[in-house]
Amino acid sequence: MTVSPNAPRSPIFAANWKMNSGPSEARTFMRVFLTRYARRPDRTVLIFPPALSLAAVRDALRERTDILTGVQNIHWEAKGAFTGEISAPIAADAGATHVLVGHSERRHVFGETDEQTAKKCAAAVAAGLVPMLCVGEKLEERERGETETVVVRQLRAGLAALSNAQIADVLIAYEPVWAIGTGRTATPADASAVHVAIRAELQNVAGEHGRAIPILYGGSVNAQNVRSLLDAKGVDGVLVGGASLDAEGWATIVRS
Ligand code: PEP
Repeated sequence: MTVSPNAPRSPIFAANWKMNSGPSEARTFMRVFLTRYARRPDRTVLIFPPALSLAAVRDALRERTDILTGVQNIHWEAKGAFTGEISAPIAADAGATHVLVGHSERRHVFGETDEQTAKKCAAAVAAGLVPMLCVGEKLEERERGETETVVVRQLRAGLAALSNAQIADVLIAYEPVWAIGTGRTATPADASAVHVAIRAELQNVAGEHGRAIPILYGGSVNAQNVRSLLDAKGVDGVLVGGASLDAEGWATIVRS
């Protein structure tokens, strides 16, 4: 299923559960969350559970097609001898519509390279999945004044194998590495400055096709700071890790 996330510009709330919540916990989470969050046409909600919990989440969403689901990672090959990996066609067959690519934990814990993110974005698009390409600088890079250079490099590299028309359907998440899981959040002004630079680069790379690509902010977003981040110029949504693990808390964020 191909999803075009770019049509009306409403905020996107994406939950990255990382390696948390197996199928039983996922079922409990969804039961609570769905009672706290009624369908709203003015926002998009997206959940990235661990791949083994995807079926449990999707089962809970039979009546709630407004909520989308994705996987946190794919391999770029469609199939073969890659023990432990999941391909884009397998994820799509399991009901995922989206996939995170280049999350900072993939890059900095598992050594994923820019070239691999490009192959993963291309594999996702070929299988009809929407890639959410994550970019972001490390603390030392920010301190050296290299934020924009790093983010632009990751962006160009990750999108390199896509046509301009394909680029129009991706999602971008700006996630400063120093803000992920640390409790430190970029100020709305800092986030905004990078989002504006990302927008400029997307238009540089893809022209008109880069104009409406949603750019999400991620990094210690919670119920207290979500409003001010969403109000920042250029921020089209949020990607939330830790604060998306509690169903009540996630519903509060999504309703904000
Ligand atoms: C993430 O995992 O993408 C993330 C932003 O995590 P956290 O919200 O916990 O910083």
